[in-house]
Amino acid sequence: MKTHAQAVVIGGGLVGCSILYHLCKLGWRDVILLERDELTSGSTWHAAAGIHGLHDNNNISKIQYYTMQLYKELEKETGQGCGIFQPGSLYLAQTKDREHQLRIQAAKAKYFKVDFHELSRDEAERLHPLVNFDGIRCVMYEPDGGNVDPSGVTHAYAAGARAMGAEIQRFTPVTATTQRADGSWDVETTKSNIHAGVVINAAGLWGREVAKMAGFELPLMTMEHQYFVTETIPEIAALGRRLPSVADRDGEYYLRQEGQGLLVGAYEKDGRFWSENGTPMDFGHELLADDLDRISENILRACARLPVLEKAGIKRVINGPMIWSPDSAALFGPVPELQNYYCCNGIIPGFSQSGGLGLLLAQWIIAGEPEYDMFAWDMARYGDWADKAFAKTRALDCYANRFKIHFPYEEREAGRPVRTRPAYERQKALGAVFGMSFGWEHPLWFASAGMEPVDEYGFERQSWFKAVQAECEALRNGVGVIDISNFGKYRISGAGSADWLDRVVANRVPRVQGRSCLTPLLGVRGGIAGDFTITMLDEDDYLMVGSGIAERYHKRYFDTVARPASVNFRSISAEYCGVNVAGPKARDVLSRLTNADLSNEAFRFMRSQRIALAGLDAIALRVSFTGDLGWEIYVPQANQLQLYDAVLEAGAEFGIVPVGSRSLLSLRVEKGYGSWGREYSPEYWPQEVGIDRLIKLDKPEFLGRDAYIALKDSAPREVLVQMKVEVTTADAVGGEPIFLPDGAPIGRVSSGAYGFGAKASLALGFVKTAHATAGTVVDIAILGQPHRAEILAAPAFDPTGSRLRG
Ligand SMILES: Cc1cc2nc3c(=O)[nH]c(=O)nc-3n(C[C@H](O)[C@H](O)[C@H](O)COP(=O)(O)OP(=O)(O)OC[C@H]3O[C@@H](n4cnc5c(N)ncnc54)[C@H](O)[C@@H]3O)c2cc1C
Repeated sequence: MKTHAQAVVIGGGLVGCSILYHLCKLGWRDVILLERDELTSGSTWHAAAGIHGLHDNNNISKIQYYTMQLYKELEKETGQGCGIFQPGSLYLAQTKDREHQLRIQAAKAKYFKVDFHELSRDEAERLHPLVNFDGIRCVMYEPDGGNVDPSGVTHAYAAGARAMGAEIQRFTPVTATTQRADGSWDVETTKSNIHAGVVINAAGLWGREVAKMAGFELPLMTMEHQYFVTETIPEIAALGRRLPSVADRDGEYYLRQEGQGLLVGAYEKDGRFWSENGTPMDFGHELLADDLDRISENILRACARLPVLEKAGIKRVINGPMIWSPDSAALFGPVPELQNYYCCNGIIPGFSQSGGLGLLLAQWIIAGEPEYDMFAWDMARYGDWADKAFAKTRALDCYANRFKIHFPYEEREAGRPVRTRPAYERQKALGAVFGMSFGWEHPLWFASAGMEPVDEYGFERQSWFKAVQAECEALRNGVGVIDISNFGKYRISGAGSADWLDRVVANRVPRVQGRSCLTPLLGVRGGIAGDFTITMLDEDDYLMVGSGIAERYHKRYFDTVARPASVNFRSISAEYCGVNVAGPKARDVLSRLTNADLSNEAFRFMRSQRIALAGLDAIALRVSFTGDLGWEIYVPQANQLQLYDAVLEAGAEFGIVPVGSRSLLSLRVEKGYGSWGREYSPEYWPQEVGIDRLIKLDKPEFLGRDAYIALKDSAPREVLVQMKVEVTTADAVGGEPIFLPDGAPIGRVSSGAYGFGAKASLALGFVKTAHATAGTVVDIAILGQPHRAEILAAPAFDPTGSRLRG
């Protein structure tokens, strides 16, 4: 066995083997995989191994298509059969919402140029004569859907990796991982030790235990999951062909052909935890005691849909453990607090995603960043606040609602509240409906009088649309107060602070007290890894404000630039709170609370001052993400309620209203402002979103500088545009494909909302450069149907910026 390696992959399940294979594919050959037992010994060996392509998240759809294609290539490359069956999948809609969901996916499929199309009932019956289609509103067909052989696929990855020079050691449990001072790792096993450049935790069911060996916790929880396989069903045997699988998600089961019978599995409402305090190291190729009663309701629904199932005998029941993250998406990427340690854990649809996971993780390790924005999967989306109790409650919620439709803007209630700030109860009393922002409860919208403060979800406009309208109109016509405590806030102080910041971000850091700048943070590939406002509070004292949900993600970038001992960099996100007082009357309201001169001459746009406000020592910044006149006011968290109350009281005579983040979305979309994770992402080049003017190449050094120089003269592939959309019942939400009127796909929406100032439904999105001209008419597929939209020449709200600077 090797004693040194570039990378050690811990875990020889489906995912670990894919990572090993992709590391080799991308050129690393000095790599080794350590498996505790036999390959496939975790969740992999007993999986139903269904595969499908489309996902609500566009990037995840891309990697699922990549994975499905890869299995065929792997078979050819390695000679190892992957047991691929692709008889197609039928997706059934029993409800209007499910129909919307399927039509949305069908429109996205056109954009991806993959096949996912509607069938008539006759066509569906011909494809699957055993299904009773009564009560089905629409049927979609994905010809590539099917299943693979779990062991075959895993061994194909392993064979491919071995052929390229990788080493695989079975029956070699890793017992400890210890970091050396130079950032490399000592990996101890029961056989011998390996000195590794990089460690990858792909330990599946044991992901928590392997993480603990490196001194950190992963928010994961293990649960039981069951499916059964029937004896031969004569009607299936008589057909003599493979039937498509059936995705009747409103019935909450999955079903496909297995041999000459059927395989049926279900995620029951009262799911069972398994070995919650840790997966035993000696758990092997074992199954758990079955209990089909728990899924009997789901089975009855399956029987109603496929009556042949009722009489079928059960050949075998599989009850195996699987491991869940708090939102059922992967915990993926480098651990921000460690060097050279990567995770790929909590994988639920591993067979649909293994290839893409392996490819993107290998890119991350070797090239420093994956080609797609994977924030939805990035382990950095969780912090310490996602503790064991949270992971457990969420895992059960995810499990029980596996097939539920996840609507735009949905906020899961399970496990909340985790963290609240001092104004929480006041905001609640004011009718706030909360969402969760990096663990914190944060107001989404405020119920108007006579309205229940309860969120409703759907693809069309919901009752909260009216509340958001009231908030936006009150702010645009007068003034509103927005809690912005969820922004990520950092304090950088000490000699050399400005120089250090200049080496991190792309714009020139202000050197004049009270000045602020907007700046991108460039990623390894020259894309946009972040956007920040940096303010010089004092000599060697800076405030930096950015996306709060991306705080742990951004840490990875900040930590790559060496900090002199004199520079103190710390997050003050939990220590400081903020409000944005915005709207044409913002100055009047704040002037009631401070003696500071807030006139335009004394306090200009993009300037900051330390002021006494409502008796508090506050940092005031004249900026507003609403695109209106406004100030961001920051105070220590202990003073949040005092500040919030004082602003509301002083604003009463001006008709101030509390405003939530759904309104902020509408306000910034009508102003055309991009937001991190939507318009700003490492996938997009600065010239594509129009922030290249903020990059100062005369600075000798900053993150991503060389990568940006290499791409800066390339024509934008796509351009960010604002569009006015003709809709009546539903606004764009993001992810919708954009077509030319002749049906040619040219882009996709990044954010959408009704703009109450502009009195129009609006969308921001990326379209191919050739079509990104003002006045171009396009079709946006909202609810899967084409809706006419026009590219605007200037922001729909306040195009000259007079409100902002007034
Ligand atoms: C009943 C059931 C049905 C399923 N059906 C489907 C389906 O239809 N489609 C689908 O896509 N997914 C399905 N899944 C999920 C799928 O099985 C998982 O997504 C996938 O197997 C995860 O693979 P993995 O490699 O991450 O983890 P695992 O398979 O758990 O592999 C982890 C490996 O790490 C090894 N290991 C752990 N600790 C150590 C250590 N200290 N040292 C060395 N090695 C170690 C283990 O021995 C194990 O082999 C199903 C799961 C279950 C339980």
